[in-house]
Amino acid sequence: MTLRVGVIGTGMIGADHVTRLTTLVAGATVTAVFDVATERAHQVAATAGATAHTSWEAVVAADDVDAVVIASPGHLHPDQAIACIAAGKPVLCEKPLATSSAEALRVLQAEAAAGRRLVQLGFMRRYDAGYLDVKKAMADGVIGEPLLAHAIHRNATVPDFFRGEMSLTDSLVHEFDIFRWLFGAEIASVTVLPVKTSPLAANGMRDPQIAVLRMAGGEVVTVESFVNCQYGYDVRCEIVGSLGTVSLDNPRTTVVITAGHRSEGVPADWQERFEPAYTRELQTWVDGLAVGRVGGPSTWDGYAATAVAEAAVVSYAKGEPVDVVLADKPALYAGED
Ligand code: NAP
Repeated sequence: MTLRVGVIGTGMIGADHVTRLTTLVAGATVTAVFDVATERAHQVAATAGATAHTSWEAVVAADDVDAVVIASPGHLHPDQAIACIAAGKPVLCEKPLATSSAEALRVLQAEAAAGRRLVQLGFMRRYDAGYLDVKKAMADGVIGEPLLAHAIHRNATVPDFFRGEMSLTDSLVHEFDIFRWLFGAEIASVTVLPVKTSPLAANGMRDPQIAVLRMAGGEVVTVESFVNCQYGYDVRCEIVGSLGTVSLDNPRTTVVITAGHRSEGVPADWQERFEPAYTRELQTWVDGLAVGRVGGPSTWDGYAATAVAEAAVVSYAKGEPVDVVLADKPALYAGED
């Protein structure tokens, strides 16, 4: 049976998700969309043969919508996700789950009260072939006991509205999730260290920055965030274990060698780097729902990552380590990876 999907928010990633669901993902069709930008919503709806509704509530309630993708701005996610939970409709909610841990907790409590998982978070890196290989190498023990990690998160440039804290809440939130997932542990504390600021940093923001994550098991992760690096999109990491290391590199494989030089490309942006991961994320979601299963990154993962981002913003202001304090984990999420 074909899954009929409603999409809330048809901006950059919402429109991309509509295209993927319509052209790349098997077993799904987009039947409804909403965006406050009415013209854009109608344009996107037309590409999918979907109805452009006049409110997001109408998308959630529509009889021809079995499941919902939320791709609106982050502060709207809690109310929209809770409405999906109340309607009993599975939802793929883009990150962040919320812009504060208190708001994220509200969604967590609503889903826990419903007693079944309905929400998957859009942490698509977990579907990237490179990160899956890193996780497998760690689990197989080939590098011995994982002890620490170094990560790089660089964007060529960011839009004018971007501010320093957004490096933590919008970009590094992916790193917070991926290292929780790779180490299978919560982040106990975070320290954001200022670095000499690039003369090309926009809006007077502090860029680059280093975040130091202390995992609950004692492992330490250093994460560089540099959102005005100019040269492209560059996400890499290396896990250091007691017997060796495993590294995630850029997936380009073509190398050009000319007189005295060896060069390879760097992805231009996150769309190019993670396109296969987005498609695999959506296909896995659709396949799971076909057999009544919601898996993948959970509301707990969204809540925990939001709490780390919140602590990072405090550390950014104070320049000191800040502990990450989490609520008790509901039984619904016990044993999930
Ligand atoms: P975007 O281009 O600004 O798109 C958001 C859209 O939602 C805009 O068209 C916006 O309209 C619209 N909107 C505003 N209020 C709304 C409402 N009440 N109901 C429905 N739609 C509403 O942003 P984006 O880059 O696509 O990001 C959307 C979400 O996806 C964010 O949470 C972002 O963090 C996340 N994201 C995730 C990834 C990832 O790697 N997983 C990548 C990119 C983005 P206006 O422009 O008129 O306000």
